[in-house]
Amino acid sequence: MKNYTFWFAAGSQHLYGGETLRQVEENCRAIADGLNGSGRLPYPVAYKMTVKTAEDAARLTAEANADGDCAGIITFCHTFSPSKMWINGLARLRKPYLHFHTQFHREIPDDAIDMDYMNLHQSAHGDREHGFIGTRMRLPRKVIAGYWRDAAAQERIGQWMRSAAGAVFSEGLKVTRFGDNMRGVAVTEGDKVEAQIRLGWQVNTVPVGRLTEVMAEVSDAEIAEKMAEYREKYDFAPSAEDAAAYQAREEIAIQRLLDAEGCAAFTNTFEDLYGMRQLPGLATQNLMSRGYGYGGEGDWKTAALTAVLKAMGGVSSFMEDYTYDLKRGLILGAHMLEVCPCIAADRPRVEVHPLGIGGKEPPARLIFEGKAGRATVSSLVDMGGRLRLITQDVECVKPPLAMPRLPVARVMWKPSPNLETGAESWILAGGAHHTVLSYDCGAELLRDWARIIGAEFVHIGENTTPHGLEQELFWNDLAWKLK
Ligand code: MN
Repeated sequence: MKNYTFWFAAGSQHLYGGETLRQVEENCRAIADGLNGSGRLPYPVAYKMTVKTAEDAARLTAEANADGDCAGIITFCHTFSPSKMWINGLARLRKPYLHFHTQFHREIPDDAIDMDYMNLHQSAHGDREHGFIGTRMRLPRKVIAGYWRDAAAQERIGQWMRSAAGAVFSEGLKVTRFGDNMRGVAVTEGDKVEAQIRLGWQVNTVPVGRLTEVMAEVSDAEIAEKMAEYREKYDFAPSAEDAAAYQAREEIAIQRLLDAEGCAAFTNTFEDLYGMRQLPGLATQNLMSRGYGYGGEGDWKTAALTAVLKAMGGVSSFMEDYTYDLKRGLILGAHMLEVCPCIAADRPRVEVHPLGIGGKEPPARLIFEGKAGRATVSSLVDMGGRLRLITQDVECVKPPLAMPRLPVARVMWKPSPNLETGAESWILAGGAHHTVLSYDCGAELLRDWARIIGAEFVHIGENTTPHGLEQELFWNDLAWKLK
């Protein structure tokens, strides 16, 4: 990820006089230093200015909008700061926005408190005025309340920063489609023009014939180098070398075409591999482990989502709900081949097996078990006029079955609140069979990202009931039609 900076601006006004304003600035610099020194923020905070006039607010947001390194602004009203002076600036803000409701001192100094102290340490008062204008203007912002030296507040700011950086990354995202989406499938479709207008995503196609031309240009030396990388990272089954070398050729060619256009994600489909001998398996898995997003069967929305979650930091993979173990209340997640080895519990192994469908040569793929731990699965669906992000809390477990004849990478998880209610809720929300499984992007982070990019967010967690969710979806639908 790029080295983004977040701008910190205090709210005040000239009414208080120079001495108070100097103190506000000094304290806000100390807060920024404290946050930066905490080690809990993934990006630095830079104190930018104390906003005292409408011109200051307009300058703050215009400069933030124009700065490609600025991934968001954080405001805090140390004193009262009349909000009408913020309107013109905030109305034009195009960066993620956090209102951090804090206070310079943790405690009220019993003996020292007087009216000067009250006028200086007034966020309880000023941040309410500041909050009103955010709500009145329907600004999609995050509010975090807490003491700036406390770990909990710092952690939450750090999480929000990841969502904001993800949104800025998302704005410039390009996706390459090798072939169309799988014939007849609905959920992998979507309005690419709408996605670009709303999210900035550029989704374009590259002919599979062009990919095979580039594959033919890959040299033996490049393949040898890629094979050395595979051997360093993975174990090999006997006689997997030849098929893996073909995957190396595919990976190098795919990456060359992606990099030529600055694309961070791609799709393909086993229905359109004209001129290719194997469906890319190991090739796609290794590309994903190196940060590229992927969605199977032409699923460009999930490809983009995989890239964004990877960019927000942590361990995330393209995933698919495959088969249930109804007795144990577990879902077996896998794909034909393309699960990212970043989620592997142990060192993955390259094996070659035939595919039951598609009519191509047996492809090399990585086989492994996903690791145990708390995670989320997320699906992005096109509701017509808007995108809906559905996120479900899950608990990944060590698979209780060895499944020795299953020739793909596999993960097993228990969905929240349980398999039946979780599945009912997921289906009511319109969630796809394709998802992104993430061990590091939690529901709050994803909700924050959805708010910034203007997508609807639906969370399925411990307290979800199908009836309550049905009501929420009904009201959401009405609200989004009015938007
Ligand atoms: Mn699929």
